[in-house]
Amino acid sequence: MTKQGFTTRQVHADRMLNTPEHGGVHTSTSNSVLFEFKDAQGIIDAFQGKRAAHVYSRSSSPSVAALQNMLNQLEGGVGTLCFSTGMAAISSTLFALLKAGDHLIVSQYLFGNTRSFFETLKDFGIHVTYTDVTDIEQVVEAYQPNTKGVYCETVANPVTQVSDLHAIGQFCEEKHILFMVDNTMTPPPLCYAKDYKASLIFCSLTKYIAGHGNVLGGAVTDTGHFNWEKYSNIKPAYKVADKAQWGITQIKKKGLRDLGATLAPESATAIALGMETLGLRLQRSQQNALKLATFLDNHHSVSEVFYPGLADHPQHFMAREQLSNGYGAILSFNLVDNINPVAFLNEMELVICATHLGDNRTLALPVAPTIYFENTAEEREKMGVSDNMLRISVGIEDTDDLIADFRNALHAVAS
Ligand SMILES: *Cc1c(COP(=O)(O)O)cnc(C)c1O
Repeated sequence: MTKQGFTTRQVHADRMLNTPEHGGVHTSTSNSVLFEFKDAQGIIDAFQGKRAAHVYSRSSSPSVAALQNMLNQLEGGVGTLCFSTGMAAISSTLFALLKAGDHLIVSQYLFGNTRSFFETLKDFGIHVTYTDVTDIEQVVEAYQPNTKGVYCETVANPVTQVSDLHAIGQFCEEKHILFMVDNTMTPPPLCYAKDYKASLIFCSLTKYIAGHGNVLGGAVTDTGHFNWEKYSNIKPAYKVADKAQWGITQIKKKGLRDLGATLAPESATAIALGMETLGLRLQRSQQNALKLATFLDNHHSVSEVFYPGLADHPQHFMAREQLSNGYGAILSFNLVDNINPVAFLNEMELVICATHLGDNRTLALPVAPTIYFENTAEEREKMGVSDNMLRISVGIEDTDDLIADFRNALHAVAS
């Protein structure tokens, strides 16, 4: 069979991968915490990893396993684990794989809470060098003998800097270090981080994957690119028969099981449903984003627009190479100095002032005084975040309605 299109695969994924009971097209929500073994040898074998079975739902359960299969297919991985939130996926994985004395090269353009978590890792003796991941030279310069990996986001928010995935992937492969990519902003079919030699792909399922603003979740996928035999932190107990599973096994035991940020089965069901329309929603919101970015770019009350789809974006060509179906649906912009961003936001009728992204609805947020409130002015400047910047997560509304809302609000504050 020829390779099917993206949405064809998504709408049939649950049925094909998980063969739900009774011929259902959805895996049902299964809430059992414990699992009975009729033969006591079964639970012994399960504990010893000689047999795959659900034992206790903090580590694995049927509904979550079904979603993991679907996400693993989506990213082309050798293993995927779900967590209660995107932050849980990131923090549990890094705690599971790192030791005091290790060094990481980390993007200086990061989601605020991820950045805050890297500050916590420093308190645990892990060394972090923040660097400009749009520039491979700076990544290479940050390398040290104890460097365990590079961590970046495909496209950063709010300023939409595009990481040089191609060059960083090459570099990590040469050095045998982990390439960890947060693909929340550009999930498939937009960006396949595996194609750029990512070792681990992180995703906040809360955003585009679920898409409807009604469920939290996170995931990490091992793409199979990384050779875990070259990774000194794998514990002997997790060097299982299949070498490709060493990393995900340690993340499952030390990260998911011991830290315990498990995805709820109800949440897995909601996320799986949202995923069916991922391709359709992304296509629509990206079309809206490009039109809105162009409108704002030409408006006299707007001084600057940051969107990778605009020809004058600093990494426009990199984005064109790395993103296969558009430029994402996050943009940010600065109003001219004499317009108060708060007054502007209060004039919006359709667009919601809220901190979230990847939703069906268009959302706006003043970023400096909210998500970057804990950072110093100097740090914000390094991230490219200006004081009156507004971030927009573009939704799937009809384009004309969306542009009209911006036009009306800009008109109201200018007069
Ligand atoms: C939202 C977000 C996260 C964290 O995800 P949660 O599900 O909210 O914990 C991580 N990375 C990026 C890029 C995000 O946008």
